[in-house]
Amino acid sequence: MKNKDCFSQNLTTQQLIELDACTGCGECLKFCPVQDVTGNPAISPPEKIRAFREFIKATEGLKARLMGPDKIDSRLLEDFTKAVFECTTCGACGQHCSVGIFTQRLWPMLRKEMVKRGIGPIGDQAKMPEIITNTGNPYNMPAKDRFSPWFPDNVKVENNAEIAYYAGCTGAYSAQPMVKGDVIVLNAIGDPFTMLGPEEEVCCGFPLFISGQHDMLEDLVKRLVGGYKAKGVKLLLTSCP
Ligand code: SF4
Ligand code: SF4
Repeated sequence: MKNKDCFSQNLTTQQLIELDACTGCGECLKFCPVQDVTGNPAISPPEKIRAFREFIKATEGLKARLMGPDKIDSRLLEDFTKAVFECTTCGACGQHCSVGIFTQRLWPMLRKEMVKRGIGPIGDQAKMPEIITNTGNPYNMPAKDRFSPWFPDNVKVENNAEIAYYAGCTGAYSAQPMVKGDVIVLNAIGDPFTMLGPEEEVCCGFPLFISGQHDMLEDLVKRLVGGYKAKGVKLLLTSCP
């Protein structure tokens, strides 16, 4: 049975295999923008994977099982946390990984482990759960203003329809020409579509997922899915990843 402090319990079998599979070949370093800017191999993909493997070994390896887990130096944990949160999660390393490690999913899960231990996230990311709870978006903008500055007056939104459009927080607050264009196109197509109200269309949770802060994710998804189900939606169109 795994102890509560183990590092692998939230990883999938595939991710555990991926951690084991990194050969340290360094091919990914040629494509990592963080490496490009910092030149610091301590925050490189293979180094992060090596460090995490050591954490697993210290807490779940054979010696740990026979004699009890080793205590991991807090400085090592903090250095790893800094490294894994300084990554942009662009996924370029995974796209060029010689053994096909899906790093875009792996890094958020390693972040989640650090969040679980109370040493992540770093900087302003830690404020996101509270901001999303209060406003429904990570930009700390008023929920009531979600659609008002950009939504065209001549676009018709039904109360109920089989098609729904989800603008997403970044579209609604930061990329308004994009979402405005999307609803104009939908309107021109002519099939009826619906949207949740500005206070109901909350964040999809991606910023929380990618920063390893997963506690609120299920609630956000349930709120959105419940809202769309109540409107009879069968097809969801979105500008948000
Ligand atoms: S996902 Fe992170 S580690 Fe991978 S290339 Fe992008 S910045 Fe570098
Ligand atoms: S390319 Fe893949 S296997 Fe090679 S060091 Fe990078 S993550 Fe590891």
